[in-house]
Amino acid sequence: MTVDWSNWKPGDPGSATIASEPGWLKAGLERQNLDFKLGATYDLDQIAQIVSAGFEIGAAESKTIKQVVNELGIPKPDAEFLVHFANCLASSQRDLQDSGEIVEKMEWDGDGCCATCQKNHGKKVKVGAKYPSGHVLPPACTYCTCCLLPVID
Ligand SMILES: [Zn+2]
Ligand SMILES: [Zn+2]
Repeated sequence: MTVDWSNWKPGDPGSATIASEPGWLKAGLERQNLDFKLGATYDLDQIAQIVSAGFEIGAAESKTIKQVVNELGIPKPDAEFLVHFANCLASSQRDLQDSGEIVEKMEWDGDGCCATCQKNHGKKVKVGAKYPSGHVLPPACTYCTCCLLPVID
């Protein structure tokens, strides 16, 4: 096996732990209120386990998507959506969790995302409070590229 070091990133055990919680992905999909209709056919916990393992080793998103397609037989567009959603959600939750211990507010960085996310861009709210779109954290849209930044005064 050859290792492609150009894709290598350090692992993210904090996000891995968040994503490994049973029911996490289902609850996240419901809470983030995105326009994505899921058939009852996917085992979301299985997808989340693959995402979690990806965080553990710092795998590139494209690798995790491939794994979900190959191992679970999920069509690629759905795998792309679900893996991107799961990655964005877990890392946002980890950022909120970690930063919340040291700062009071988080700023939504939504530069270049969509019209919904633009409403939140640059807004600073108390940790755990809602941004203008009604979301507490990204993702706020399909293929959201937003993140939260700690506000250091
Ligand atoms: Zn967006
Ligand atoms: Zn976004």
